[in-house]
Amino acid sequence: MNGIITQVEVFRLNIPLKASVTIAIGTISEARNILVKIHTSEGIYGVGEGAPFWMIVGETQDSCLATARDFGRLLLGRPVWDIEGNLRLMDGYLTRNFTCKSAFDMAMYDAAAKYANMPLYQFLGGSKRRITTDETIYIDSPEAMAADALAIKERGAEAIKVKLGKDPKEDIQRIKAIRRAIGDGLPLRVDANQGWDYVSAVQVLKAIAAYGVQYCEQPVKHWDYENLGRVRANSPIPICADESLFDHIDALKLAQKQSVDYFNIKLSKSGGINNALKINSIAEAAGIPCMIGCMSESRLGITANTHLASARQNVVFYDLDSPFEHAIDPVIGGATYRNSYHLDLPETPGHGADFDPEFLGGLESFSVD
Ligand code: MG
Repeated sequence: MNGIITQVEVFRLNIPLKASVTIAIGTISEARNILVKIHTSEGIYGVGEGAPFWMIVGETQDSCLATARDFGRLLLGRPVWDIEGNLRLMDGYLTRNFTCKSAFDMAMYDAAAKYANMPLYQFLGGSKRRITTDETIYIDSPEAMAADALAIKERGAEAIKVKLGKDPKEDIQRIKAIRRAIGDGLPLRVDANQGWDYVSAVQVLKAIAAYGVQYCEQPVKHWDYENLGRVRANSPIPICADESLFDHIDALKLAQKQSVDYFNIKLSKSGGINNALKINSIAEAAGIPCMIGCMSESRLGITANTHLASARQNVVFYDLDSPFEHAIDPVIGGATYRNSYHLDLPETPGHGADFDPEFLGGLESFSVD
């Protein structure tokens, strides 16, 4: 039988940021990710990245590394193309830990698509579509955020994502200042990252509705489905679930409760591509368009996300800008940014991205074999 997993290499993937970034629930100064390389019997390998945004997913880089050792042992001798079987084995062994699982899922899809000799978007049964990312502005003074917005407009962005959720009154000033700086037309997408309660969410959303806001991500706490639905019912701006939506089970609950207008799918929350496809199917059946977002992935993780986004027409919003914050780009191949914001996918089999061997050689790593 072909495609038997013979070795799993795991790397501590630290990527320095150009500057610290702040959202409502915390500040990060470095991407602390993991990289999983799954080798198979024919010498074909797959590469997957997990980006644990610890305040959101409850996993750290160290917890991911420990978990990855166990998952590696679990998968040795298994066929890499039995992605569902392998994920079920991992789910049966350890609940949640979605970010670590997503790295394995991505590596398995990469390897399986290489065996099929297809680029990942084709392997997923989709086509190459126009994928254009927005660019994110992190929390700062209204003046500084307005200056960032103007620079992003001048680089040719088609949408700007604005982080809010620290202080309701100042959040309104932030949006007003940004809109004043950039003029009309360019859509703003706001993200409160759970920073408001029901009352302040409705107040802010009503106050900023006249300023061209396309939708608002995660106005209230992740567990608060009731108030998420109440905000949606009373907001003039459509509501998108992010931290309330990890896997397909959350997706079904949110759809049944009619809590939101849109879903933000991220591989670090869903557990990977396999569950992301299930979320998107539930969303499509419920009439919920999806966005694909990111945590702090390198261009390798972004490449896998772009294949997924391209392969499903119900995915209509793209927030795939994490490499913009990174001080280095050690990724070879993969999706590239044309005119800053257009993501071009390669035609190479698999997701088409890899890491510079010299860069990988300098990382702390271990092997399960
Ligand atoms: Mg978000």
